[in-house]
Amino acid sequence: MKKRIVILGAGESGTGAAILAKAKGYDAFVSDSSAIKQKYKEMLDSRGIRWEEGHHTESEIFSAEEVIKSPGISNKVPIIEGLIKRNIPIISEIEFAGRYSDATMICITGSNGKTTTTMLTYHILKEAGLDVGLAGNVGNSLALQVAESPHACYVIELSSFQLDNMYRFKADIAVLLNITPDHLDRYDYKMQNYIDSKLRIIQNQTEKDAFIFWNDDPVIIREVAKRKPAATLYPFALDPQDGIKGYVRKEQLVIDTKKSLFTMEQDLLALTGTHNLYNSLASGITAKLMDIHDENIRASLSDFTGVEHRLEKVARVRGVDYVNDSKATNVNSCWYALQSMTTKVILILGGIDKGNDYSEIEELVREKVRALIFLGIDNAKLHSFFDGKVLETEDARSMQEAVDKAYRLAQKGDTVLLSPCCASFDLFTSYEDRGNQFKDCVLHL
Ligand code: ADP
Repeated sequence: MKKRIVILGAGESGTGAAILAKAKGYDAFVSDSSAIKQKYKEMLDSRGIRWEEGHHTESEIFSAEEVIKSPGISNKVPIIEGLIKRNIPIISEIEFAGRYSDATMICITGSNGKTTTTMLTYHILKEAGLDVGLAGNVGNSLALQVAESPHACYVIELSSFQLDNMYRFKADIAVLLNITPDHLDRYDYKMQNYIDSKLRIIQNQTEKDAFIFWNDDPVIIREVAKRKPAATLYPFALDPQDGIKGYVRKEQLVIDTKKSLFTMEQDLLALTGTHNLYNSLASGITAKLMDIHDENIRASLSDFTGVEHRLEKVARVRGVDYVNDSKATNVNSCWYALQSMTTKVILILGGIDKGNDYSEIEELVREKVRALIFLGIDNAKLHSFFDGKVLETEDARSMQEAVDKAYRLAQKGDTVLLSPCCASFDLFTSYEDRGNQFKDCVLHL
């Protein structure tokens, strides 16, 4: 009898996992409580994989020997509680795919900067001619690639939700960018649970593997001291200190992995802002460990075009720059955006507040912001925090209104920055929709 595997959630990762399971001879069944996108239905149908949508059939699911769960599904939903009660193992798509690949796995996690660092690292390796795939939260699922177009190496963006159901998988190179509070609703509002989840990135590593992490992050430092990772450590930080393998000295980015000393003028980095310096250091260390030549690393760190909706330069209109940072859905990422600004700023922010504490950006707002535009259905919290602290605040109920007001308020040499600190679902379908509307409005000014 074939082993039965059930896949819960038919998005990119679930569909890929089902295709890999089928290719490996399992009896695979896919169940999604919502509607499945046409594209994924066709992928499943063309490979003869059974699926259901809009509900979960318990008899199908509870007879599984193993379940692959989409990272979007919380452990609190009844179907998962039912599986846990029955002791049916639940794994993630990455865990499953890892069983069928001996490729070099470069895994990147953190609260902010994952996508940027993943794309940048992929860019360096790809441009250097490596046979590399992009997976995890970006690109095609790892499972699909392992099943149908395998690579020698993968750069994988991992969220804490994916890490939660990983047990045996090992990262050859693990990157941990930072840990600040996020998604606590999925971690019983306990920060330590979220931290533990992030640290799963180093589980199963041995001294032959590498652990790259931001050494200025107090949470990471504490965890490293406590856990004493088995992997070889590659900490990076802004300033040179003992044991730090990537840092900045005299406006030069320096990476010292013992193989050779890599240096590059900070000015030549494509991505600006301190946060991107960290991302560039993490990617640069990874590239050195993958034996990429220095000149290739330099070229790629300087010609990377960035990732859409992350400090994305949109246009200059009448001497004013417009920057789309719609992906800044928490206060910490807006802080980094403001910090990287070298001009006066008209800041557009607002949306659905996730319990934000705006005092984190207060100083930078006082220093750099000419006017604030609150873009949201309910702007009361923003008003009560910022009124009186900035010269001018305005409300906007649509992107068009926000951009029109920004255009009117900006002076030559200023930057109009969309970096909302909030989720987008009050006025937009997603942060991408919000960013695209911003770009559209700017390009029509
Ligand atoms: P993630 O995939 O972790 O959400 P992104 O690369 O999509 O991260 O960036 C999300 C937001 O965080 C953007 O607004 C970006 O400007 C900001 N950001 C990027 N890198 C960092 C970092 N190392 N530290 C803090 N904020 C960052």
